[in-house]
Amino acid sequence: HHAGRSTVWVGQPGAQVPIGPDTFTFLAGPCAVETAEQTLEAALMAKAAGATILRGGAYKPRTSPYAFQGLGVAGLEILADVRAATGLPIVTEVVDARDVPIVAEHADMLQIGTRNMANFGLLQAAGDAGKPVLLKRGMTATIEEWLMAAEYIAQRGNLDVVLCERGIRTFEPATRNTLDISAVPVVQATSHLPIIVDPSHAAGRKDLVVPLSRAAIAVGADGIIVDVHPEPEVALCDGPQALLGNDLRDLATAVRKLPPVV
Ligand code: PEP
Repeated sequence: HHAGRSTVWVGQPGAQVPIGPDTFTFLAGPCAVETAEQTLEAALMAKAAGATILRGGAYKPRTSPYAFQGLGVAGLEILADVRAATGLPIVTEVVDARDVPIVAEHADMLQIGTRNMANFGLLQAAGDAGKPVLLKRGMTATIEEWLMAAEYIAQRGNLDVVLCERGIRTFEPATRNTLDISAVPVVQATSHLPIIVDPSHAAGRKDLVVPLSRAAIAVGADGIIVDVHPEPEVALCDGPQALLGNDLRDLATAVRKLPPVV
């Protein structure tokens, strides 16, 4: 690959958002798409806080098979409607290689979650889909294993991969995962790919999202991806980590105070 770090462009022609070294990209939205109203409300909250890409899961990889699994295609349609209403490009997770074509038809960027980082058939299918890919770090993956997972996508001719550090399993139970902030400079020294941080899924607690976002900014991450929800207490997925109100305003202020990229 060429020398230097890459920028990945997300969105439809004429309205593309960069993720890379010359900017700091703020992605936000609900953990799961639950209803059209909830998704639109979350998107408007995200946009008002300065987010330029909307996240939201239509296919949810839940630990329990009895937990809400996502709305599937109906959720993708809601996301496409919310993109039309807000102008925000969409990133959404795909958990099964068979769903890659339908997800790619609706989304601007495909997300591969932590549980599927080493699902090589899914990585290859995502690599063939013709859309940028957000590749989260496996919760027990080394940085080298994560970069090799990215190679499975790149090998299909798709170099538009953004890495996402979302915390790893350690012995520490105070947070759901331990955010490995050192992964950011290590990856930037090793790979040309942009790297963003997900403080919401790392901590699993909303009170840590703003401090960890500040850490991501300080360490030089290329962006953050954060959960927001208009009513976290009734969220069908990961409510305790979702921001709204003052917390979201604090985050927006932290992002706005970013020093200019030189
Ligand atoms: C998500 O972003 O919705 C998600 C489930 O994240 P992770 O794969 O990092 O747990």
